[in-house]
Amino acid sequence: MNERKRILTGIRPTGSLHLGHYAGALENWLRLQSEYECYFLIADYQVSDYADDIARVRDSVWEVALDWLAVGLNPESGHFVIESLVPEHAELTTWLSWFLPLGMLQRNPTLKAEMADFGKKSVPVAFFTYPVMQVANILMPRAHLVPVGEDQLPHIEMTRELARRFNRQFKEVFPEPEGLVGRVPRLVGVDGQAKMSKSLNNAIYLKDDAKTVTQKVMGMFTPRMSPTDPGDPEVTPAFMYHEAFNPDRAEVEDLKERYRKGAVGDAEVKRKLAAAINTFLDPIRDRRATYAANMPHVREALEYGTNQGRAIARETMEMVRDALDLGYLGKY
Ligand code: ATP
Ligand code: MG
Repeated sequence: MNERKRILTGIRPTGSLHLGHYAGALENWLRLQSEYECYFLIADYQVSDYADDIARVRDSVWEVALDWLAVGLNPESGHFVIESLVPEHAELTTWLSWFLPLGMLQRNPTLKAEMADFGKKSVPVAFFTYPVMQVANILMPRAHLVPVGEDQLPHIEMTRELARRFNRQFKEVFPEPEGLVGRVPRLVGVDGQAKMSKSLNNAIYLKDDAKTVTQKVMGMFTPRMSPTDPGDPEVTPAFMYHEAFNPDRAEVEDLKERYRKGAVGDAEVKRKLAAAINTFLDPIRDRRATYAANMPHVREALEYGTNQGRAIARETMEMVRDALDLGYLGKY
């Protein structure tokens, strides 16, 4: 068979998308979308931390789809799938959780860190088990490659382990998928925190207008006390963003050199950064506006993609039931 290899990857509908999503994940999706058969998942089963704000989840499904179209994902070649409209995801999660030892979840470092973020609030059971569902998401289209940010790698390791176990114990159903981390494995937040994140309120959004971007950049965390102190670009968020989004290498090198000597002010570094990010975002904003004026087209993309997702899910579930030998009613 001359089938293309498959990609599964996804995003939680908890808000619109930011520069971290772009550099950590979307950029790879764009690069690979014509080479692989892609399933881009809007993971609305996995937002139990937003249980008190389902309206936000519902709106964010559209926000995510708009952002995907705005960055240039092609919904005819890559399928935009709404997770909960393919309930087979829940079904496969149930079967797979039979074969996943509790300790493996308890040791998952990303899950541990995210659960710690709940602080005194109680953690929903569905939050604790979301990585199992992510395993099911990846295995559902029998994906070969999973382009994601670095924080998702432990989940992919679990997926590989479960695929191996299942194949060994029953039948060879699942390829062992590889993770693929983007050019910037984990983009810091504008506040200098380790990860730009919707939930931490430290993000520059793809849909932010030029003025908002400039304000966020000018207010960005800087580790230096005074503009005449020698600085280290490696630990300065503004320079991490310059590296990621400013294509003018000569300008970046010049700024870095002067920064190391304490010969450039943060304001100049940031002004040039804001200009670079705005230039990068301009075509994305334009495309977003065009799609936002044609929501029935966005709906079509979601409907078509979800139907494709459902079709391959049915195929996989037949293989899974056959492997588990669950033909109860066929017996008599
Ligand atoms: P939330 O805070 O609600 O979990 P999030 O910003 O972490 O939101 P997700 O939907 O969980 O977004 O992640 C979607 C994809 O984007 C994942 O592959 C994730 O690894 C990647 N990603 C998210 N934030 C960053 C970042 N700051 N740097 C690199 N990749 C990122
Ligand atoms: Mg996340």
